[in-house]
Amino acid sequence: MTGLAAGNSRNTSTSTPVPVLDVQAVHKRFGDQPVLRGIDLTVAAHEVVVLIGASGSGKSTLLKTANLLEQVDDGRILLSGEDITDPRTKVDAVRARIGVVFQHYNLFPHMSVIDNVTLAARKVVGTPRAEAEATGMSLLTRIGLADKAQEFPDRLSGGQQQRVAIARAIATDPELLLLDEITSALDPQLVGEVLDLVRELKTAGSTIVMATHEMSFARRVADRVVYLKDGVIVESGTPEQIFVDPQQPETREFLRRLQ
Ligand code: ADP
Ligand code: MG
Repeated sequence: MTGLAAGNSRNTSTSTPVPVLDVQAVHKRFGDQPVLRGIDLTVAAHEVVVLIGASGSGKSTLLKTANLLEQVDDGRILLSGEDITDPRTKVDAVRARIGVVFQHYNLFPHMSVIDNVTLAARKVVGTPRAEAEATGMSLLTRIGLADKAQEFPDRLSGGQQQRVAIARAIATDPELLLLDEITSALDPQLVGEVLDLVRELKTAGSTIVMATHEMSFARRVADRVVYLKDGVIVESGTPEQIFVDPQQPETREFLRRLQ
């Protein structure tokens, strides 16, 4: 009787919810260079996790392994409980569940803004064009770019292009958003509008893993900040823990150099 009750209790709603992303002991090397050296990272639904660390510390590689743009050498990655690093995984099906925005070249230059935003819904999910466009237009309205729907990307500012790229990434309502240095290529005056949109997504409940050099943004918006160095998570915690009271000498040194 006791045993049964104990068994059942694991399946009740009081048990820990399945994380959206669960990176377990992930190792990755390029040639003989180890780039990720045993990464463990769990991201809960609606959580915003910000990766910080010097250039070359492995942030992009970590985001790419989560999107199956790079294969892990060891360890595994679960997306909502499903092992996506299993060789039998259907890569396209996994990618359809994850929205991604990079630093550069996110939009197809030969397609209008609305076609960029609706492409995945039409081609991957199979949503009829009219329906995809209605959703796309409401997204463009939300980000203040409805009047640019018929323009081609090169007619938009870098900040507008990145906002469209974010709209495109969320158009299919992904479980997880991966944002890699999405403001690094922008003129300083355009950074704010893009980060404001990320903050809105957080408010709306998106689950986000984001690599950034924008420490003030990390401090204000992250639920958790993860400091990577040489492919290892040196320290993670709330923004207060990391920025105000870092425990590891390497974290202190990294933050001191930024000032
Ligand atoms: P970050 O995003 O933190 O700057 P990256 O993940 O881009 O770091 O890179 C980590 C290390 O892996 C760097 O030394 C980089 O040169 C190397 N690297 C990244 N991608 C590749 C690749 N495709 N082939 C070889 N080396 C790579
Ligand atoms: Mg990078």
